[in-house]
Amino acid sequence: MHFFEFTEEQKMLRKAVREFVDAEIAPKAAEWDEKDVCPVELFKKMGELGINGIFVPEQYGGAGQGSVARAICLEEISRHSAGLGIAMMTHHMGPYPILLYGTEEQKKKYIPDLCSGKKVGGLAVTEPGGGSDFSGQKTTGEKKDGGWVLNGRKCFITNSHIADTSVVTAKTGEDEKGRPKLSAFIVEKGTKGFEAGRKEHKLGLRGSVTGDVVLTDVKVPADALLGKEGDGAKIGMNAIGEVGRAGMSAICVGILRGCVEEAVKFSNERIVYGKPISKLQAIQFEVAKIRTYYEAARLMTYSAASLKDDGKPCANEVAMAKYFSTEYATDASKRLMDLMGGYGVINEYPVGRFLRDALASIPSGGTSHIMQIIIAANTLSGFQP
Ligand SMILES: Cc1cc2nc3c(=O)[nH]c(=O)nc-3n(C[C@H](O)[C@H](O)[C@H](O)COP(=O)(O)OP(=O)(O)OC[C@H]3O[C@@H](n4cnc5c(N)ncnc54)[C@H](O)[C@@H]3O)c2cc1C
Repeated sequence: MHFFEFTEEQKMLRKAVREFVDAEIAPKAAEWDEKDVCPVELFKKMGELGINGIFVPEQYGGAGQGSVARAICLEEISRHSAGLGIAMMTHHMGPYPILLYGTEEQKKKYIPDLCSGKKVGGLAVTEPGGGSDFSGQKTTGEKKDGGWVLNGRKCFITNSHIADTSVVTAKTGEDEKGRPKLSAFIVEKGTKGFEAGRKEHKLGLRGSVTGDVVLTDVKVPADALLGKEGDGAKIGMNAIGEVGRAGMSAICVGILRGCVEEAVKFSNERIVYGKPISKLQAIQFEVAKIRTYYEAARLMTYSAASLKDDGKPCANEVAMAKYFSTEYATDASKRLMDLMGGYGVINEYPVGRFLRDALASIPSGGTSHIMQIIIAANTLSGFQP
């Protein structure tokens, strides 16, 4: 593992984002969850703070601060609203592949508006045939009249109904072994035939929009192709593997911090047998577990992010961080619920939301089974301590 310490700049960022979250997000998070509304209007304000393009170089309108800084922003937002956390984290999956694989023209055309908060981004890869089976995608891209025609349906897409600029994968051919060749395209809201479909009613991560994206004879110009023809699997996997999962991990660090803070507050305030329950050893054991899970998830998440900032391979470290953080955010919120007795199931407290958000984080960006497959493959092919 890679050890890290926040720089002064990162500490200042954390302070600024925390102040913003306390003022603009914390007071409304429960309402967004209950009504399942995404506060799209906050994207403009978060853009002004630099959050929307936090890792994007300044020359394209970003804050130029990297992946650790991104994790700080997502942890702070998700401490109070993991729903808004996943909306922001998925927004980042719009500019990221364009930055990595786009032409200079594409970067200049799309990225500055995604950074400023003028536009919201998204990445549409998953299809009804199964998100884990990346190569089973059925959406097609056909060359026609010098451009492309896209047809198909994507499902479980975050920001489906609010994204202005989406990166979409489609099958554009087959390789010599008959396997699908995927390509990635940049598609803008308002393009004829490109519509948001069914909106999901989710258990957790409410306050983010998740739904279908339907493509019916969507005509896009040749320069909508991102990277080269056949680069789609690489582009999609890279965005999900190093940005999507890293983001989900940071979101769950935020949930875990919420569990620690709520456990301290509740156990010091709740009086039973004439004294706070924090004096009971059984309660102390739960507090100790929740705190340890938070610290471990935090270390793994920021360590993986700092590897990315150093330009080192990090897909395995991100998979471990995502696996650990999502599973232990679920475990910690259940423990917090138990610790609170009857109050744990009262919706006035955020703990029920923590549990639902943590559970919904497990499949987002790849399930725990898939994370374990990645980790096992990496470990079995040459574990070096
Ligand atoms: C809230 C939320 C937001 C999302 N946002 C986006 C988004 O913005 N863009 C996007 O493209 N996608 C998004 N997704 C989709 C997400 O990436 C998929 O849900 C995920 O990859 C799992 O795919 P699936 O749901 O089709 O499950 P399936 O792939 O059908 O898996 C079903 C079960 O089989 C298991 N399984 C599958 N393959 C294997 C295997 N090889 N070995 C062992 N077990 C296996 C899985 O672990 C799971 O338990 C989102 C999902 C959620 C829940």
